[in-house]
Amino acid sequence: MQRTQKISVEQLKRDYSDAVLLAAAGEVLARWNAVDALPQLRIVFNGRLRTSGGRALLMQQTVELNPRLLAENPQHIDVVLIHELAHLVATARHGRVKSHGKEWQQLMSEAGQDPKVCHSMDASEFYHRRRRPRLSGARFLRRILKRLIK
Ligand SMILES: [Zn+2]
Repeated sequence: MQRTQKISVEQLKRDYSDAVLLAAAGEVLARWNAVDALPQLRIVFNGRLRTSGGRALLMQQTVELNPRLLAENPQHIDVVLIHELAHLVATARHGRVKSHGKEWQQLMSEAGQDPKVCHSMDASEFYHRRRRPRLSGARFLRRILKRLIK
């Protein structure tokens, strides 16, 4: 049996401070040549999210992260962040496009993600995915970088 890597919401928010999240987002945006695409970008925890790991508020250029689900699955925070950022960049570049359409898929593959896997980020999807080691903020950043170099 794999050990659970659950952390507290407080710990999650300490590990993934604004600075860490924005630095990680900056690396992903650089990979997409999109550093100027989201001048208003905000990444926030929203405790009212229930079953999704995160969501993208397209007009506000905001990524919301689900603190409770991510505290239970901190190993997935990078995937959630990239997934939601891809929605924002696809919209910034192309306007209204299909949520998980070809523009979004292209960005996902450029960021080293499997574009065919549409992570619905609902709770069951979360719990069935393979467990990965939990990451500190610094390791999270390093892994994002490594993933982008591939
Ligand atoms: Zn999505």
